Amino acid sequence: MLPVRITVAVGARSVPVDDVKDARVASAFRAAGQDVGRKLATITCPVHAKTAGNVRIHFDARGNANLQYDSCCAELGVAVGRALG
Ligand SMILES: [Zn+2]
Repeated sequence: MLPVRITVAVGARSVPVDDVKDARVASAFRAAGQDVGRKLATITCPVHAKTAGNVRIHFDARGNANLQYDSCCAELGVAVGRALG
């Protein structure tokens, strides 16, 4: 599993998931983040055989996930998009 940095919108602010006071809410976000981290760990670039790096997920006020990560090239982005799409 790749490490995933999870942030959550609280009002107008963006806070780390560890700062979310409601433990049930925090664990739901963590579980969603870990799910993505597990999937991304299995996806490698067909050209460079690398996985995504520096994976970040932000959940907005509606609970929509916005995924960001570093990739070696566009091919990895295509593979990730196909797997998570
Ligand atoms: Zn690549």
